[in-house]
Amino acid sequence: MSNATGGQSSGNRKLQGGARGRVLVVDDEDQLLDAYSRWLARAGFEVETATSGTAAAALLEKAEYDVVVSDISMPGLDGVSLLRLARGRDADLPVVLVTGSPELQSAIEALRSGAFDYLVKPFDLEKLSHVVERANLLHRMARLKREALNLVGGGGLGLADRTALEVSFDRALASMWMAYQPIIRVEDRALCGYEALLRSDEKALPHPGAVLDAAERLERLDDLGRHVRHLVAKRVPQNSDGALLFVNLHARDLEDPTLTAPDGPLVPYARRVVLEITERASLDDAATVRARVADLRALGFRIAVDDLGAGYAGLTSFALLEPEFVKIDMSLVRGIDANTTKRKVVGSLISVCRELGIQVVGEGVETVQERDVLVSLGCDLLQGYLLAKPDRPFPSFTW
Ligand code: C2E
Ligand code: CA
Ligand code: CA
Repeated sequence: MSNATGGQSSGNRKLQGGARGRVLVVDDEDQLLDAYSRWLARAGFEVETATSGTAAAALLEKAEYDVVVSDISMPGLDGVSLLRLARGRDADLPVVLVTGSPELQSAIEALRSGAFDYLVKPFDLEKLSHVVERANLLHRMARLKREALNLVGGGGLGLADRTALEVSFDRALASMWMAYQPIIRVEDRALCGYEALLRSDEKALPHPGAVLDAAERLERLDDLGRHVRHLVAKRVPQNSDGALLFVNLHARDLEDPTLTAPDGPLVPYARRVVLEITERASLDDAATVRARVADLRALGFRIAVDDLGAGYAGLTSFALLEPEFVKIDMSLVRGIDANTTKRKVVGSLISVCRELGIQVVGEGVETVQERDVLVSLGCDLLQGYLLAKPDRPFPSFTW
């Protein structure tokens, strides 16, 4: 078998297996390339190889891959440049970088440049297949999300005058309270937790989206997020049955130091709190998000990806957040019993989540038919008007 050196299709080697996804492995050391690709083929992947960055770039021009594994230091086009090129063609393509030098700096550089993960040579081949498997699943997830987004589309909001807005926003903060909506476990039809949803009596900002939009325009998201966390924290002691509290975060809230500060209102209850981060907005600074999420986990918080299927259809949220929960957006749940495509996409999302060890919440369940389809697809948790509407703490529910 020969390896690709110039990118001709006849020059590259294809190892069969294939059912699990296509992987392109790039390394200028023949022996390593051989070992990696055989191992991955044994693990069930369809593997193609290239012995240089340039050869790999040529292959990327011609074919689609699910995962790229590339050495960083190669003569000519190096791994980081290859990564940039690959991501330019397919923003969702996960690239795993391999480095021979164990210095922290090269790891940081790899992750900064948007690598899915990095491995330091020599590494256990088990580890390689584990990383590739996860990358492959997340790539599938990213594709499904795009499909879901095409299926249900997006939305927008109107403008308001700044000073008037400021006054309204202050009134909204002053009159704010939190509604709670039960989230129910399918397995035993018991309470898992409540999602906290903000409410205010300010007529000019009649729903949470309007309050959030105002906060964004006025650059006062910090004030809003802090007030939400303060209000939720006051209720935790009254909720003695151990139910979890699902609290919505704006992407900006992640940067707020009070989120993790020792006197942060939710910190003492972290083990009972799941922070929901929406897919509607993209998370921009990968390195910061990664670090913040690590801090939150260390304190005991868990993470949910919210509105799956409704927003930015990228790979990043999953790779960065490694969520414990995923919430399927209600636009995918609505009428799922009468829509084969929705059923297929949601079914696949649930099975990918299961493989990743993530619990799935079906949101916005309004009818018995929607509930029953979600249950039959293996959804772990349900939330929606059928079970209970959001209300003053803490509402009861029916199945
Ligand atoms: P979300 O996080 O997706 O919350 C679920 C929304 O669906 C809530 O709307 C809830 O009242 C509504 N809902 C629940 N079950 C059903 C159902 O069966 N049918 C229908 N049609 N709707 C249902 P809500 O309370 O108006 O909140 C809207 C959005 O505002 C939330 O969407 C969330 O993105 C945001 N939000 C609410 N509270 C907060 C907060 O404290 N902080 C942040 N950052 N965002 C919040
Ligand atoms: Ca939510
Ligand atoms: Ca949601």
